[in-house]
Amino acid sequence: MARLKPLDIYNYLPKTNCGECGLESCMAFAYKLIEHELEVKDCKPLATDPKLKKAFEDLKELVTPPVRPVKFGGDGNEVTIGGEEVMYRHELTYFNPTAIAVCVHDEMTEEELIRNVKLISEWTVFRVGAHLCLDAVAVKSVSRDPVKFAKAVKLVADNTKYPLILCSLDPSCLKAGVEAVKNRRPLLYAATRDNWREVAEIALNSGCPVVVASPGDLDTLKSLAATLSSVGIQVALDPGTAWGEGVLADTIDSFTMLRRAAIERGDKNVGWPLVGVPATLWIGKEEASEGEKLETAFKETFLAAALICRYADLLIINSKELWTFLALTTLRQNIYTDPRIHPAVEAGLFAVGSPNEDSPVMITTNYASTAFVVRSDLEQSKIDAWLVIIDTGGIGVESSAAGGQLNAAKMAEALSEYKVAEKVRHRAVIIPGLAARFAGELEDASGWDVYVGPKDSGSIPDFLKSKYRPRDGLRYVGDPDGKSSVVLVTNNIKDFYRVKMPLRNAGISAWILVVDADGLPVSEAVKEKKLTGETVKALMQREDVEKKVDHRELVVPEEAATLKEEIEKATGWKVTVVPCEKLAEKLKK
Ligand code: SF4
Repeated sequence: MARLKPLDIYNYLPKTNCGECGLESCMAFAYKLIEHELEVKDCKPLATDPKLKKAFEDLKELVTPPVRPVKFGGDGNEVTIGGEEVMYRHELTYFNPTAIAVCVHDEMTEEELIRNVKLISEWTVFRVGAHLCLDAVAVKSVSRDPVKFAKAVKLVADNTKYPLILCSLDPSCLKAGVEAVKNRRPLLYAATRDNWREVAEIALNSGCPVVVASPGDLDTLKSLAATLSSVGIQVALDPGTAWGEGVLADTIDSFTMLRRAAIERGDKNVGWPLVGVPATLWIGKEEASEGEKLETAFKETFLAAALICRYADLLIINSKELWTFLALTTLRQNIYTDPRIHPAVEAGLFAVGSPNEDSPVMITTNYASTAFVVRSDLEQSKIDAWLVIIDTGGIGVESSAAGGQLNAAKMAEALSEYKVAEKVRHRAVIIPGLAARFAGELEDASGWDVYVGPKDSGSIPDFLKSKYRPRDGLRYVGDPDGKSSVVLVTNNIKDFYRVKMPLRNAGISAWILVVDADGLPVSEAVKEKKLTGETVKALMQREDVEKKVDHRELVVPEEAATLKEEIEKATGWKVTVVPCEKLAEKLKK
């Protein structure tokens, strides 16, 4: 089926650009309608003007997707199931993720009911920029007692804002349950070939949508759906959910056949959301051993996962295991990601933890998975850092480095645009290992020293501990010559910039002799004997320092004052001790 274009819709709209829908034009409204972000009734002039009634009805028919959307829930807490247009996500996108409802029942004690309802309603986990949650509570009548059921439904409703599903094949229970929560517009489960007349009457009187169920008999299912929808009841279809040799495959086949008939053959009678009930695996398991219950929860999770992949718009499960919730919501998040949109996060400069002016600065891209993983790796390792997120259109490091969305100029621009230099007193930036080839170009473009980080953000803590160090040897600031001073420091990142930055800021050119002390600051390197007269002598010889400068004076920070004579003796150079805060002043003279 060809997808609608905004112009197809625009022709039905009043074309007055009145703005009552909150948009500046009717064409903008048409775009939103196509994306399922608004409904036809949101154009008030079209919905209320009797002269436009036909256009209103025709447009509603035109934009109704082959799998009609069904809403349940009330008081602003609604869930929409169905509303899909394609078989496969890559053909367009899926619009409404599979809703997951968890069962409680009316034989539970009040305390059990409240505890379980709170567990279901409050469970959440943050993953790739989204809070994953469950969607609804299914209240099942086990007692078959309408009074008891209504009481349980009311108690559940009082303890959750989540939409409710009322589950009973006994119409008198469903009726009592609906009356207990009239304003919540619950979904009724279920109308069958035996009770459909009574259930239809309850649905018509309450305005609630209904699941029609006919396990293993798709013809009856279709006929029930056609009958109920013909009198204006919104329905969802339960073709049966079963576990076992052969029947598991039949379950998946039934879901697939129904979805195919709706989308590819335009069969309106089955163009409704599909409901899977993996909770049926628990029938007869009330007294089972713990081991058997665990196995049932595992099978139920597996079956629910298969149905998320194959067209279930709503799942009713019984397991209250957190690993069930985690597995299903994570899978759902992956399946229902919009393939047209690279999952991106906002670009900018972000503080991770409580960074200060000595904290590391790291660059990554705004691909959601990358940015969140880097951030969470830093947070879990309790690393305070500044994170510069570059807008690469939501593309990850490797692909954006290859595709040109990430390059040296863009990184330099981001450092400048986000005023990173105002946050730190060093000029060290860590780039992802997968963008290593931009290191030199970025140093030239930004004036920052570039450190190439690991390819995998999980290795950042190790990198910071063992590799985030200035290179040892004879380094420099500005454009030094034979007369320029030589300043000693260790390869501790903080001490290095304590020496370099004041000179750089004062526009002084100098040589910086960086001793490899395993990253220890000068004071500790002296104590640990990593900084000695001999280490300085060896480094000076290795770097041919005497060929580069005409004088023989070495400036050392005051933390190494105790080594003055030792260095003088080993090198034959005069040693001058200068506190770092007075370095620029001293060298200027
Ligand atoms: S309310 Fe209707 S007529 Fe007014 S701008 Fe929106 S779509 Fe157009």
